[in-house]
Amino acid sequence: MSLADFWIVLLGCLSLCHAAPTIAPTISSEDEALAKIYLSRFYDDVGMTNVTTRSLISNITEDLEAMQAFFGLEVTGTLNNETVEVMKAPRCGVSDISRYGHFAGKPRWQKRLITYRITQYTPDLSRSQVDATIGKAFKLYSDVIPLDFKQVYSGTADIMILFKGGYHGDFYPFDGAGGVLAHANSPGQGQGGDTHFDDDERWTLTQRGVNLLLVAAHEFGHALGLDHSRDRRALMFPTYQYVNTNGYRLPDDDRRGVQALYGSRTPVPTTRPNPPPRPEPEPEPEEPTEDSRPDPLPNPKDEQCSRQLVFDAATSIKGDLYFFKNGYYWRKSTSNPGIRLTRVSAKWSRINRVDAAFEVPREDVAYLFEGRQYWGIRARTKTLLSGYPKPITSLGLPSSVSKVDAAVHVPTTGKTLFFVNNKYWSYDEARNQMDYGYPRYITQDFPGIGSKVDAAFENYGYLYFSNGPRQSEYYLPYRRVMRVLLNYGWLNCY
Ligand SMILES: [Zn+2]
Ligand SMILES: [Zn+2]
Repeated sequence: MSLADFWIVLLGCLSLCHAAPTIAPTISSEDEALAKIYLSRFYDDVGMTNVTTRSLISNITEDLEAMQAFFGLEVTGTLNNETVEVMKAPRCGVSDISRYGHFAGKPRWQKRLITYRITQYTPDLSRSQVDATIGKAFKLYSDVIPLDFKQVYSGTADIMILFKGGYHGDFYPFDGAGGVLAHANSPGQGQGGDTHFDDDERWTLTQRGVNLLLVAAHEFGHALGLDHSRDRRALMFPTYQYVNTNGYRLPDDDRRGVQALYGSRTPVPTTRPNPPPRPEPEPEPEEPTEDSRPDPLPNPKDEQCSRQLVFDAATSIKGDLYFFKNGYYWRKSTSNPGIRLTRVSAKWSRINRVDAAFEVPREDVAYLFEGRQYWGIRARTKTLLSGYPKPITSLGLPSSVSKVDAAVHVPTTGKTLFFVNNKYWSYDEARNQMDYGYPRYITQDFPGIGSKVDAAFENYGYLYFSNGPRQSEYYLPYRRVMRVLLNYGWLNCY
């Protein structure tokens, strides 16, 4: 079974179990065998010298109880479907009990500059992709603790890294695709910090296969002295769970854990400590100037890396992200690393500023909203479509709406959501009309994102809702906020 299949099974079961909790607990003999192997691997206390004095049965029951408690399952000491599903999830190879005692006594690096060397690469990615991703994973930590990481290409580094399947020179051979993905030693001399990736996995930079950044960041947590966390949102949770890695930062639980060992990096003093002025009043009354255009708004260049940054609108267009502010937009490209700031009217001469924007990828169209009208753009060429602007009332919005705050199209449902003040509308792209029963209150249907949305976009299956400088990463199938971010985190400000 491939890793992707694991996830389908696991997610399928989670939703099934919630819907039908009375499912009969039938455990196959294969699952029983799997459980024994799993427990001996991750819960057996090999530190105990006289293991033989414990009977096999009580041993398994105790280990099972410890495992169920660790994962927050009902502690029954018997094998049930829920427990088996957790055991089948792909995971980290480090024991959930401090098997080797590495983490007891809080081992940590006693110097500020840590070197690392990759001695064997994976064929799944290019060398430069691996180097960049490993560098990124270390940077998640060096952003928050006063350690620096440097790649070296010869000799013995503090942290030696390799990709290899099966037996690879230590006592913990890998197990083929799925199961254990990687393991790492805690800090110390010799093999301390060394990190091994199972090359029978398919390593990727996306949500397919196994995401190298997330697994590397988890293993480097061990290499820096972090043990597993019980917090499901933590990077150090023992099972692999894909989250969007675009703009990824160390989750709070892990940051606190690693800062407890090393302290925090003193923040670099920013050039402009005082927040930018509050959003300017709308230039609504048409001042009679020579130019019929309203006065240009201040260039938001200096706000790019402000924690107070508020977006006017945001959207994807052909994989790139566009963040609109004061009649300008930042474009974050998937193909080149820089971020460009462009005046909206320099790109689309008839549009001054953008209040809301969304893309319908299936139709190769993006829409930009300004006041009571909106424009269609061919996504591929970025050119304006004929027949625009159209009034927003043509979408079915009431004439009392003078401006759309935010809009986002959800490809999985085929709906486009329009946010106006504390309410939202749902538009069916297939039927080309508003859904019945709207507007509804935002807080009622999107708990946790706030009562107003300034900007919204979709990225790799997640929805991002900005409310002031704060942004919620929302997963629609669970109807839940997964992470809370700040807008400026998207604009390469680390
Ligand atoms: Zn781990
Ligand atoms: Zn190893």
